[in-house]
Amino acid sequence: MAYSESKIIANLKTVSQRISEACVRAGRNAHSVKLCAVSKFHPGEAVEACIKGGQFLFGENRVQEAGGKFPAVFENHPDVKLHIIGQLQTNKVKNAVKIADTIQSVDRLDLIREIEKQASKLEKKINILFEIHTGEESKSGFENIEAVRKALNFISDGNAPHVVPKGFMTMAPFTEDKALVRKSFVTLREMAVELRREFPQFDLCELSMGMSGDFEIAIEEGSTMVRVGTAIFGERQY
Ligand SMILES: *Cc1c(COP(=O)(O)O)cnc(C)c1O
Repeated sequence: MAYSESKIIANLKTVSQRISEACVRAGRNAHSVKLCAVSKFHPGEAVEACIKGGQFLFGENRVQEAGGKFPAVFENHPDVKLHIIGQLQTNKVKNAVKIADTIQSVDRLDLIREIEKQASKLEKKINILFEIHTGEESKSGFENIEAVRKALNFISDGNAPHVVPKGFMTMAPFTEDKALVRKSFVTLREMAVELRREFPQFDLCELSMGMSGDFEIAIEEGSTMVRVGTAIFGERQY
């Protein structure tokens, strides 16, 4: 598949415009929502095109794929940041911590233990988001607030000094039913409000929610970071 640099840059502009417009409609500052460009299944040249368009934050699902793509990108663009957004197996944490700035898909306490272990070896701090299961279809994410509380207490007790909690992430169900999608985002926001109140020692301001098909609804419901792949890079060829 050939990648058109001008097409990717134009798409990026359109997405940024739609983000700004959604912010205005929601009465929010247009700079209050960050864009994470999801480059999974797209090659390094597509990432390079996106960078030419002014994009510096990327998301990848799979550590192995990201590890093949991003070291070269970082060499040319040291300011680029990578977030891991896909379900993370424990044996991939070592490489994830090497290349990523943030792991958005933290869905269990054991993963935090492993991130701490690997990050401490590298003497690197790593940001995390707690992925929360808010929709019927998605399989990943913490199942309830009590489990997240337990993880936050674990970190608060000094057990993971290299792990920096930054907020929450969710995936809405894949459905045409906009009310269900919205409900999923509202659930994340409300859980965040509760946990910020209980854990003022952490800066849990990030709400990563919204993808190509639903980011405008997510912005209306308080998203601070949208993760957009298809609307920037086109359909993925699996
Ligand atoms: C693939 C993916 C995205 C981007 O999805 P698009 O519909 O292509 O915008 C966002 N978040 C996660 C967790 C993903 O796996």
